[in-house]
Amino acid sequence: MFAVCVTVAVAITVGIVRFVKSRKMVEEPYTAALASNLVLVDNTKQVPKEDAPAGDYFAPLYENSEDSELEEFDDIDYYADISQITGGDKGLIVVDAGHGGKDSGALGFGMMEKDLVLQIALQTRKALIAKGYSVYMTRVDDSFVGLKERASLANSLDPLAMVSIHLNSYPELESVSGVEAWTYERSGCIELAQALTEKVSLETGVKNRGVYYATNLVVTSKANMPSVILECGYITNEQESANLADQDYQKKVALGVAKAVDAFVGEYY
Ligand SMILES: [Zn+2]
Repeated sequence: MFAVCVTVAVAITVGIVRFVKSRKMVEEPYTAALASNLVLVDNTKQVPKEDAPAGDYFAPLYENSEDSELEEFDDIDYYADISQITGGDKGLIVVDAGHGGKDSGALGFGMMEKDLVLQIALQTRKALIAKGYSVYMTRVDDSFVGLKERASLANSLDPLAMVSIHLNSYPELESVSGVEAWTYERSGCIELAQALTEKVSLETGVKNRGVYYATNLVVTSKANMPSVILECGYITNEQESANLADQDYQKKVALGVAKAVDAFVGEYY
């Protein structure tokens, strides 16, 4: 009888917590508005123009279209395991390594985006912890995590920011290189994206390709906190892909991300 009572009490508590959390998420006007507006676009035939102004430069929307073939978009709320959070007390940052598992991401020179971004994300966690932040990672190994799940996991933690680590791809013109950021055009995201491209460009010496906006990138559109997709470089550029696979270079990218997050947090909050 006691065991039954405990079980019922736990079930009721979990139910209440989940209900409160789900209400909190629904009440976010930004999230609620976007949830029904997400449109997935396959733009694989669209061409990035190296020197075009922002409006003419096409989003790396394969970040969505590839995943959309791999998963059902659901309305499930996901809750992060807080025991996975490590680091200091300066505030929580979510580091999201793109792709994983059955989703390789972009390919170049025998390498897969999912592998390189995980290495960069792990270095980023170290760099952020060194600056006093605590970090939650949406994946720490080669597992598949859905796009909606990534945003939902982050929302469940209410972090200061989320940085989603990706690599760009443009096989049609291998000379294209540099760092750029994609986000949803709203307060917080804009400043974080600008800080990320600026600091990573400074640390690595690569071209700062700027900040671009899209409404249909799931991770940035469905997250409640400032959230940015950082395209750290082009896996289809031979020199840049070699750099991105090099641990010392990965540490430079990670340091740039950590400096950007630190600068952003200091100014925004
Ligand atoms: Zn990607």
